[in-house]
Amino acid sequence: MVGKLKIMPIGGLGEVGKNMMSIEYGRSIIIIDAGMMFPELDMLGIDYIIPDWGYLRDVKDRVRAILITHGHQDHIGALPHFVREFNVPVYATRLTRGLIEIKLKNDHLLDRTALYTYSPGDIIEIGPFTIEPYHVCHSIPDTVGLGINTPAGLIVHSGDFKLDHTPADGLPTDMAKLAEFSRRGVLVLLSDSTNADQPGTTPSEAVLDDVFDQIMRRTPGRLIIATFASLISRIQQAVSAAARNRRKVAIAGRSMVENAKMARDLGYLDIPEDMQLTLEETKSVPPSEVLIMATGSQGEPMGVLNRLATGRHPSLRIRKGDTVVLSSHTIPGNEEMVHGVINRLFQKGADVFYNPVVQVHVSGHASQEEQKILINLLRPRFFVPIHGELRHLKQHGKLAHELGISEENIAVVENGYPLIFRDGRLEIGRRVPGGYVFVDGALVGDTGPVVLREREVLGQSGFVTAIVHYNHETGRPVGSSRIITRGFIFVPDADELLSHAQDVIASAAVVQPGTSPADVEERVERALSDFLYQETRRKPVVTAAVIAE
Ligand SMILES: [Zn+2]
Ligand SMILES: [Zn+2]
Repeated sequence: MVGKLKIMPIGGLGEVGKNMMSIEYGRSIIIIDAGMMFPELDMLGIDYIIPDWGYLRDVKDRVRAILITHGHQDHIGALPHFVREFNVPVYATRLTRGLIEIKLKNDHLLDRTALYTYSPGDIIEIGPFTIEPYHVCHSIPDTVGLGINTPAGLIVHSGDFKLDHTPADGLPTDMAKLAEFSRRGVLVLLSDSTNADQPGTTPSEAVLDDVFDQIMRRTPGRLIIATFASLISRIQQAVSAAARNRRKVAIAGRSMVENAKMARDLGYLDIPEDMQLTLEETKSVPPSEVLIMATGSQGEPMGVLNRLATGRHPSLRIRKGDTVVLSSHTIPGNEEMVHGVINRLFQKGADVFYNPVVQVHVSGHASQEEQKILINLLRPRFFVPIHGELRHLKQHGKLAHELGISEENIAVVENGYPLIFRDGRLEIGRRVPGGYVFVDGALVGDTGPVVLREREVLGQSGFVTAIVHYNHETGRPVGSSRIITRGFIFVPDADELLSHAQDVIASAAVVQPGTSPADVEERVERALSDFLYQETRRKPVVTAAVIAE
C-alpha cells in the first residue's frame, strides 16, 4: 500500500531567501537546502536570518540527509547552524561542496560533518527515496535540480534555474533528463518563482561578455567589478573579458579570495597564472591594465566596495579615472545602502555602472516563458511554486493554471503549510508555528521582536538613566541623583535641562517611609519621562536605579 508523502516548506516560500524544505515518507525525512536571508533595515543589529526548523526538532531521529542544490548563501548559509543540530550526511556537487567546506571550516565544523559529493547522473538511495540530481544552469556552476523518486510518485525540485542556451560555463540545463522524468510521469513539480513576475525570457549570461568588453575598452583607468563572492560564473566572465582586453586581475575581499582559490583548485574558475596580481602589485601596473574583482555589491558595511566608498580600505583608494561596476542585482531592502555607496564612489571621482543604467547583470532565474517550458515539459500532476515572495508564488501558480493544471492541483502556500499527498490527492495541512530565527553575533534565536522593538526605540530617542540613593527609613533621597544619557541630548549643552531633571527626581523620590525601592523607581521613571517629554517632546527610554541605604 502506498503511504502518504509530506512536503514541508520551512523557508523560502513567501520570501526571497533562507530556502529550505523537508520531504517525508514513512519514517524517513530528507531535507533540501538550508539557506540564510539578509535582514531588513529595521532589524537593527541582526547579522542574518536562518529558517525556523522547530518542526524538525520533534522528528529529529527521522531526518536522514540534507541535499544541497547549489552554493549560494540563500541555500547553504544556514548549514553551519543546521549541522550543529542535525548530525546527518550532507550531499552537494563538487563546487558546492567546496563552498560548504570553506563555511564549515571557518566555524570549526568541518571535521564533524559527513560530506558527500554527488553529480548529475548519480542515483542516490536514502531510505524510501531515490534521488537523481540533474544539471541546471544558474549564476553559479554546478547547480542541480533534483528528481526524487518516492513510493508515492516522482517529485521534481527545480532548484534555482534558468534555461540559458549560452551559459557562462557552456552547460545548459539538462532538458533530456527533464524529458525522461516527464515520460516516467511527474507527481509534483516544485519550481523556482523568483522571476515569476518577469514576462519573456531571462537574457543569457553571454550578453555580459559584450558589455564587459565594451566597458573595458572604453575605460582608460582601473576597473573594479563588484559582485557576490559566490557568483563564480560572473567572476569567470569578468576574468575572460580581462584576458581579451589585456588586463590583469586582483581579487579583493576575503570571501571572494577564498571562493576563487577553491574554485580554481577544483577547475571551475580559469585565471591564468600570469594574469594574477595582488592588490599591492596593482599599484605598479598601468591603470588601464588592471581589473579588481571585489565584494560588497550589496553595500554591506564590511564589503570592499563600501570600504572603498568611505576611504576605509587598508590598501586601496578610489581615485579619479577609476570605473566601478556593480554586477549583481540589489536584494530588496538593501537599496539605500547600495545607493549610498554609489553616491560616495561618484563623490570620490569614480565612474559607476549599475543596472538598469547599463545592463551589467543578468538574472540567474527563469522568467515566465522559461517557467512555462518547464511546466509543459514535465506535465506534473501537482504544481507547487517555491522560492519567492507570495506575489511571485501567486503569479507562478497563475501561469501553471493557464497551462492547464487544475486549480485544486496547484498549492500556493507560504512556509509552514504541510502538503500531504495521499491516494492521488493533495491536502494542505494546518500551518506549523515558525518565524524568523535571528543571528545576532553569537546569539542564535535569542534576539526576538521585543528586543528589536527596544533597539528601535533606543535608536530613535536614546536613553536616560537616573541613579538615586534613598533612605528607606526617612523616605527621602540622599544627596543628589546621577543622570546618565546616551543618544538623547548633547550633555554639555543640556546643563539647564538636566539640573531641572535633578529637581524632578528629588521630589519624586520623597515618599512614605518604608516604600520599597522598586516603587520609588517607578515614581522616578514616570516623573522623569513626563518632565522630559514636556520639555523636549522626545520619549527616550527612561530607567531609574534606586539604591536604598
Ligand atoms: Zn541561487
Ligand atoms: Zn536562491
